[in-house]
Amino acid sequence: MERLPQPASYASAKGNFAHYIFEHLFKLPAPERTIERARKYVEPAIESVLTEKVREEIGLDDEKLKGLLHETEEILVTYFEMEDPREVTHEGVELRMGVTIEGAPLFGILDRLDRDKDGNLIIVDYKTGGLPNRSFDSTTFANAELYAALCKEKLGELPTTMRLLYVAHGEAVERPVAEVNIRAREKAAASAWQKINTYYNDGDFPATPSKNACRFCNFKDLCRSQGVAVPS
Ligand code: SF4
Repeated sequence: MERLPQPASYASAKGNFAHYIFEHLFKLPAPERTIERARKYVEPAIESVLTEKVREEIGLDDEKLKGLLHETEEILVTYFEMEDPREVTHEGVELRMGVTIEGAPLFGILDRLDRDKDGNLIIVDYKTGGLPNRSFDSTTFANAELYAALCKEKLGELPTTMRLLYVAHGEAVERPVAEVNIRAREKAAASAWQKINTYYNDGDFPATPSKNACRFCNFKDLCRSQGVAVPS
């Protein structure tokens, strides 16, 4: 296994930047979660997220940094119009969960796991990119459904709702958790894991192109599906 590192992009740096601020904001006691406090995490985010390596990979100059800080301020203002974090009760932020389901090891980091007034668990995922198309295809909630599977296995409790917060656009997209979909995700993960094991044992990993994955892939020049042999 080559474990090729994924180079940073401006979009991933912006996402990590916003996630850093939200994570630290929600670790504060509820009454202290104000926009003024959120802004105080911008400087530490520069230190923590914009490492030398990231700066180099995204070609961060003064102009780009100014743009990133401007977009971050817009995200914060928009976010505080969407909800009041002082009213949020949560079970944790940046929750790292790993479980084994039907032999498949699954791992995920949940941005936030809320507990609503009726005692239900809500999966909250921040999105700093564009809005999904209106028909919300099956991929829109794919990660959140896997997070629901992790909660069910790890906490013994199935969340009732998945909420995606498009913080750059001020829109929240919500869907109830359907146990049948969670089972389907678990089955799909178990089947993918079985395939990985088969490929590993055979010593041959075929390329598995898909429109979404290939569009953003940084390893096209190594990929067999692009007509280039994968080195053995
Ligand atoms: S270009 Fe190749 S390696 Fe990249 S996602 Fe597509 S199939 Fe996978």
